[in-house]
Amino acid sequence: MANLKLKPGVITGKALDELFAYCKEVDCALPAVNVIGSSSANAALAAAKEAKAPIIIQLSHTGSQFYAGKTLDNGQQQASIAGSIAGALHVRTMAKVYGVPTILHTDHCAKKLLPWVDGVIAAGEEYFARNGEPLFSSHMLDLSEQPLEENIDISRRYLERIAKMGMTLEIELGITGGEEDGVDHSGADHSKLYTSPEDVLKAYDALHPVGNFTVAAAFGNTHGVYAPGNVKLKPPILRDSQAYVAAQRKTGPEPVSFVFHGGSGSTEEEIREAVSYGVVKMNIDTDTQWAFTQPIKKFMDEKSAYLQAQLGNPEGPDKPNKRYIDPRGWLHSGEKGFTTRLVKACKDLGSFGKFDF
Ligand SMILES: [Zn+2]
Repeated sequence: MANLKLKPGVITGKALDELFAYCKEVDCALPAVNVIGSSSANAALAAAKEAKAPIIIQLSHTGSQFYAGKTLDNGQQQASIAGSIAGALHVRTMAKVYGVPTILHTDHCAKKLLPWVDGVIAAGEEYFARNGEPLFSSHMLDLSEQPLEENIDISRRYLERIAKMGMTLEIELGITGGEEDGVDHSGADHSKLYTSPEDVLKAYDALHPVGNFTVAAAFGNTHGVYAPGNVKLKPPILRDSQAYVAAQRKTGPEPVSFVFHGGSGSTEEEIREAVSYGVVKMNIDTDTQWAFTQPIKKFMDEKSAYLQAQLGNPEGPDKPNKRYIDPRGWLHSGEKGFTTRLVKACKDLGSFGKFDF
């Protein structure tokens, strides 16, 4: 199959739907990376350029707050809303300069955080009225803590609103284990860590008539990297869910687009198997956090003697340390580590070199 041709910039609407369909056809998925500022956002765009593959740049609730600045009050979600908007506008401006196709997304939004996504959607509607396209490509709602009916009902109402702008909704069925972004599921009931095909069908029936959606299904995946534990990854749950929906609703193969949360720490075989069952997006956060921090630690360790005072180092008591102190030096080493890890993710997910732009 010929490589899919994409335009640089943010991909939304029908183009995103076609992109996910292509991913399923050629068995590849896109990495979705959490960014917390212009530095990590630029490093993600650099990875897309190097891998010749589109990348999903996402902002979490606290990542958005950090983007806005930790000192701001966030009592009405104002910092998280403004941070999401600022991040999206930054990526929109820079994606064209880097010459890469990008998908803009917001990560987990639990019920109590809905005012955050409400604010971002309101800004998106204003953006849509001015520009004829949405600010973000997609949002995620994570109502997996609620009863299934409530989860699907609220998700459908949000999809009705954002589908008007050609946006896609990501929902969560069953819960991702582990801890991320202050949400701790490490003590969760084991049955909730595995999504059932029946639940996927219920979501499909409610959402498919309304608009485009993706499903973060629980198949034993966990946020973060932990020592091998008692939760086992079972990707065949995804295969069985696809087969069940296809048989019940007489669709073509792989009617559902799945999202793999907690991709960090997974083996290449596990990733390939999940992708072969219709995973189109894999979230990666802990591994890229590690990849950003590690070169900075190395820099600080190696240059330690140059970072004790503004003047004075092993070369002499009056020697200036300005070039070691400048944060651009060590921040860029983190950016390079982040980019390298993301390019590896594109290779693991099979998206590397499968696109033209
Ligand atoms: Zn997640």
